[in-house]
Amino acid sequence: MSAQLPGAPHVQYRSEELFVEEVRLADLAREHGTPLFVYSRAAMLSALAAYQRGFAGRKAKICYAMKANSSLAVLQVFARAGCGFDVVSGGELERVLAAGARAGDIIFSGVGKTRREMRWALKAGIHCFNVESEQELEVLSEVATETGIEAPVSLRVNPDVNPLTHPYISTGLKGSKFGIAHKEALRVYRRAASLPGLRVLGIDCHIGSQITQVSPYLDAMDRVLDLVTAIEAAGIPIAHIDFGGGLGIVYHVEQPPPADVLWQRLLARLDARGFGDRQLLIEPGRSLVGNAGVCVTEILYLKPGEGKNFCIVDAAMNDLPRPAMYEAFHQIVPLQPRGGKPASYDVVGPVCESGDWLGRDRKLTAQRGDLLAVLSAGAYCMSMASNYNTRGRPTEVLVDGSTAHVIREREDIADQMRKEKLLP
Ligand SMILES: *Cc1c(COP(=O)(O)O)cnc(C)c1O
Repeated sequence: MSAQLPGAPHVQYRSEELFVEEVRLADLAREHGTPLFVYSRAAMLSALAAYQRGFAGRKAKICYAMKANSSLAVLQVFARAGCGFDVVSGGELERVLAAGARAGDIIFSGVGKTRREMRWALKAGIHCFNVESEQELEVLSEVATETGIEAPVSLRVNPDVNPLTHPYISTGLKGSKFGIAHKEALRVYRRAASLPGLRVLGIDCHIGSQITQVSPYLDAMDRVLDLVTAIEAAGIPIAHIDFGGGLGIVYHVEQPPPADVLWQRLLARLDARGFGDRQLLIEPGRSLVGNAGVCVTEILYLKPGEGKNFCIVDAAMNDLPRPAMYEAFHQIVPLQPRGGKPASYDVVGPVCESGDWLGRDRKLTAQRGDLLAVLSAGAYCMSMASNYNTRGRPTEVLVDGSTAHVIREREDIADQMRKEKLLP
């Protein structure tokens, strides 16, 4: 079992036992129960370091797109490492400030910001609003005028390039709800420059997620730089350029470029086009946390079926929604591999939905009571987890070397019912 695991070297087997850094996962499962999310701090910092190397010597701000994993301690790890943040709601803004982020390092994205959220963000003093429509611009101008605080803005433009990824996570094509159409952008920039209370600061784009090739980024960069040229020719200076997030990770057989290699290519293009001195922003989410996390789950039952065997585990679509939502693939491996002949199983959870599966046709040598790890579970798992079927969301542990910190306790039934009221 020495095959290269996604997340290695921070997630790997040592003498037939799966470890995260210096901690044996079976020990954590015994102590904290299952399902259990476990993250490696070193894996997060090493993912961040790849971006930091890529931008060495540049004016750049790395803003972690915290919707990928918004647990407070995870945010703390990034805040302490000097990272900025990309938030998509007032809730995320409050959360990341509670984790110790500096307001000046925060940008605010999203297609549906409310007036209340705009007010919070203005009063907090965030770095920039990434505005996604003309009406949003008008409302932000009103709110800024009312509160007497100027709003720094960037317009999210839609470069209309295909990121070559899953349709649900493509965001930069025509017909997407995100961003302002490329051909409208110049007109909307003129409007932004004329509205009271706004200060045009930059331009941004985000073309999709789990992107594993360089070419869509190069295409998007070219389209955005064409716009910068046109906008500045119209007398509106663009101080920063934000290329969004979206870099993919290894779930299975993908081979995404490492962040520093990607940015070497992109910065060469930026320099060649004469924009190398601009302030750069990026908004990586998945690529900072995805391979840093695993979800440990116990096999409750093995159920041979007609033509299919089921391996029923105690983690489910409410804990790990990506397979149900996107038919996403996560590797599933035993904590303590057994000898013997493997059989093929669909690994499924206890939730009452046929869509509640974690992996299909997986070869496992497994027995009831064995522990499995669902790999690459650091991004868009816990942050998307729900209480469907009145299941409490799992415990989370952050491993730092040989120390394991509980960073979130398992939700109990009282937690789940706290805000509900019985009829009189
Ligand atoms: C989700 C999102 C990101 C992060 O995407 P990843 O694929 O996780 O890197 C960045 N920017 C915006 C605007 C987003 O919506």
